[in-house]
Amino acid sequence: MMRLLGPAEIRILADKLDLRPTKKLGQNFVIDAGTVRRIVRVADLSPDDVVIEIGPGLGSLTLALLPSAEHVVVVEIDPVLAGRLPITVAEHGAADNLTVVNADAMKIALGDLSGHVPTALVANLPYNVSVPVLLHLLEILPSLRKGLVMVQSEVADRLAAGPGSKVYGVPSAKAAWYADVRRAGPVGRTVFWPVPNVDSGLVSLVRRDPPTTSASREEVFAVVDAAFAQRRKTLRAALATWAGTAPQAETALRAAGVDPSTRGEQLTIEAFARIAEQKP
Ligand code: SAM
Repeated sequence: MMRLLGPAEIRILADKLDLRPTKKLGQNFVIDAGTVRRIVRVADLSPDDVVIEIGPGLGSLTLALLPSAEHVVVVEIDPVLAGRLPITVAEHGAADNLTVVNADAMKIALGDLSGHVPTALVANLPYNVSVPVLLHLLEILPSLRKGLVMVQSEVADRLAAGPGSKVYGVPSAKAAWYADVRRAGPVGRTVFWPVPNVDSGLVSLVRRDPPTTSASREEVFAVVDAAFAQRRKTLRAALATWAGTAPQAETALRAAGVDPSTRGEQLTIEAFARIAEQKP
């Protein structure tokens, strides 16, 4: 096990770098080694896993991931943090299994990862972009078999929600296309510096096959977006523009075996896929 970062060392590092954590980049760094160990334990990595970590920041989580995986590829948007990370890692015990990519995770492709093919995602995601980053990675990296991410508590609830839940919505339905998603425990706000205004939660993901459908992923997601854009309306009304008219929406819904008077929050991703197949 590598020596992990504690609160005092984080402060010293931040001072050295003249770091002013920004809200825009969701820069809240974990200062509690116990939380970092817990994340790695719940991630349940194998020695042959290639891990992708988004937003390593000062390296709190990275230091714990390195001894637990074959390789760790980190993607950090902040050039100062990306530049400093190899130095911090070297200071904590040499590791030759780290690749640092200084880039925006929203824009990366597999080809940007220096030939590494990630099998697991483990990250304390930047909160303002956690859902789009997660969906982007699941889409561009089919090799990802599992994930353990820390996100804002409310987002964890939404990602893991199933049909019929009050918080089931676009993130839940889209994430279900790629993975079985579960909450994996709460994390209090005091483990971060600076302390954020919200609590966090762990979310575990296990890759699943997408629903069998003749519709494309984009076509299915277009139905999801339309259904939840007006979540109080019945599907017949919410999908009127998508289908052309409300009667056409009703015909498509009936052909898909879905009651036109229900709402999107009742539908599984499989039902959304069946509806997408019926687009007039
Ligand atoms: N993993 C570190 C930890 O636990 O202490 C830092 C986590 S902090 C919540 C989020 C990190 O993501 C920051 O280092 C921030 O600079 C980085 N970040 C923000 N937006 C990003 C993006 N679009 N792509 C890559 N990294 C990003």
